[in-house]
Amino acid sequence: MYPGEGAIEYAKSLTEGLTREEVATIIHTIMIGPFEDPRVKRCEVCEYPFRDVTRPGNAKVCGPTCKTIQKTAQRWKQRQVKPGRNITIKAAKPVRYLWWLEYPYWTSERWMLSHVGSYERPHDPDKLLTIAAAKQRYEMMGGRRKPVRKAEY
Ligand SMILES: [Zn+2]
Repeated sequence: MYPGEGAIEYAKSLTEGLTREEVATIIHTIMIGPFEDPRVKRCEVCEYPFRDVTRPGNAKVCGPTCKTIQKTAQRWKQRQVKPGRNITIKAAKPVRYLWWLEYPYWTSERWMLSHVGSYERPHDPDKLLTIAAAKQRYEMMGGRRKPVRKAEY
């Protein structure tokens, strides 16, 4: 496993402008720990030390790459939950609007008043003119017609 972005950044900040031997000693010390700085932690994914620069200081991984790996593992684990276990099935919503009928209707007026927006949306006032024009064009032409293609020479 390669160190993530945060781990590399941290190592760089410690070893800037040092000789190869000095760098080796420092890297060795920080790899063993423990860390004096409470903000320095070990990344849960790449296991290299990094400095937590987030404001709440609750980062568990060092950088975006490690974050992605962690999230992928998390989702995989969640998908492993066997069906039939730890699953709560939502109760089916009662039918309040019989939209599939020729003349759809609501089963209760109160429900209609609060939910009509999610079934029937009024046209956008800005588009009304465009819609009216399209209807007129449709009637004048007597139906849909293929747009005329003009060849350019
Ligand atoms: Zn990491």
